[in-house]
Amino acid sequence: MSKRDYYDVLGVSKDASKDEIKKAYRKLAKKYHPDVSKEEDAENKFKEAKEAWEVLGDEQKRSQYDQFGHAGMNGGGQGFGGFGGGEDFGGFGDIFDMFFGGGGRRRDPNAPRKGADLQYTMTLQFEEAIFGKETDIQIPKEETCDTCQGSGAKPGTKPVTCSHCNGAGQMNQEQNTPFGRVVNKRVCHYCQGTGKEVKDKCNTCGGNGKVTTRKTIHINIPAGINEGQQIRVSGQGEPGENGGPAGDLFVVVQIRPHEFFQREGDNIFCEMPLTFAQAALGDEIEVPTVHGKVKLKVPAGTQNGKRFRLKDKGAPDVRGRGHGDQHVQMRVVTPTNLTERQKELLREFHDISGNEATEEQHDNIFQRVKRAFKGE
Ligand SMILES: [Zn+2]
Ligand SMILES: [Zn+2]
Repeated sequence: MSKRDYYDVLGVSKDASKDEIKKAYRKLAKKYHPDVSKEEDAENKFKEAKEAWEVLGDEQKRSQYDQFGHAGMNGGGQGFGGFGGGEDFGGFGDIFDMFFGGGGRRRDPNAPRKGADLQYTMTLQFEEAIFGKETDIQIPKEETCDTCQGSGAKPGTKPVTCSHCNGAGQMNQEQNTPFGRVVNKRVCHYCQGTGKEVKDKCNTCGGNGKVTTRKTIHINIPAGINEGQQIRVSGQGEPGENGGPAGDLFVVVQIRPHEFFQREGDNIFCEMPLTFAQAALGDEIEVPTVHGKVKLKVPAGTQNGKRFRLKDKGAPDVRGRGHGDQHVQMRVVTPTNLTERQKELLREFHDISGNEATEEQHDNIFQRVKRAFKGE
């Protein structure tokens, strides 16, 4: 089943303001919340709206989505990763707390949570994207602190129950919202929702249980990869919390433009200049391709803008299914800075271009023009 466009899901236009998006989402969240909704398929509709909001409500994710669509949001089509934010497994906890005052399932601060995904942008040369590349990249990475095994407490000590929230990880807060006065559960900011407090902080990590290191990761760029595509490296994101799995690393590919070739999908486009003598009389020319030079027969009478196809001379399909083609467009160049000899021949050519000239005369003058332009 194909995924619906996030803008369609929320029923807003592509240039909707953040406020409009928020309003549209709240309306849907209220309508489809699984704990209150009597609508058909409410749970899926709610999830769909929530996912759309998580992307369109975040400027960075929204621009990513605008550029790459769903492909930009989930590498290799394996579920929504959510750049930058750890997605918890608890389901609707967050949103319910936000709108309905904490009447729903509570978010357990000690539940396993998946680590955040990391994104790395790699710029490739045109040919590197065509032929693929193996390379090592260095990424900053948060890792569990070895000294305290992630607890944040000095070796020999243990974190204690947070005295501000009594270990719940949340605190009540009254607030006016569009749905009336509600009691919100807020994450306890003394313990960041963990429900635990570190009295004697670990010296290595300063008490947060994680250290930032640089990690070398080997990346295999497949031949034929294209602009905006990404490689998902499983488990190389940030570590999970409370025993949850690590996030993933997404390597997003950018390709430097080439001075001669342009790429569209697996096809490569280029332009070749032709003198008007070559265009009129035909010639065999050499065309550069990414696979080396290829001879191309240009037939007599070739018009400016005419395209020729060099089969299988394009980029390989990234899934290994053959090659694209190279399309060569002819650009007939009108000569400038003519020599006296060339001008004379062209005048002669012009004079016999009327109706009285025979075919033989035409050919004769054409050949002489051609030689004059080749400098013979
Ligand atoms: Zn530590
Ligand atoms: Zn607390």
